[in-house]
Amino acid sequence: MEYDDQNIFAKVLRGEIPADVVYENDHVMAFRDIEPQAPVHILVIPKGPVPCLADARDGAAMGELMLAVGEIARQEGFEDDGFRVVINNGVRANQTVFHLHAHILAGRDLTWPPG
Ligand code: 5GP
Repeated sequence: MEYDDQNIFAKVLRGEIPADVVYENDHVMAFRDIEPQAPVHILVIPKGPVPCLADARDGAAMGELMLAVGEIARQEGFEDDGFRVVINNGVRANQTVFHLHAHILAGRDLTWPPG
């Protein structure tokens, strides 16, 4: 898929749209979801222009994304309580913003299987 640099998260990255940023480093930015599905709902995005997980080719960048999830869990204090990481890929999986993002959900019991 072609990357559209007018997507909402690209605008967040450029500072054109405000976000409640909880973590940032050279590789990723993480901010609170505007429509939280759990008491804690954080989105972690790579800084590079990747629309979907299926488009990802840079292993180091994907590693940084996953490492940031753990870092955020420790920073926010829910690393031992349990949390879930979700990446929706494509329209049928309910991906609505086409800049790759990992959802971190925490702060409540999370049932399985997911919907
Ligand atoms: P997706 O459905 O693509 O996996 O997830 C997109 C997420 O982005 C949704 O959970 C939605 O609530 C969130 N979202 C959409 N627009 C904004 C926004 O402008 N700011 C923030 N912080 N989250 C947003």
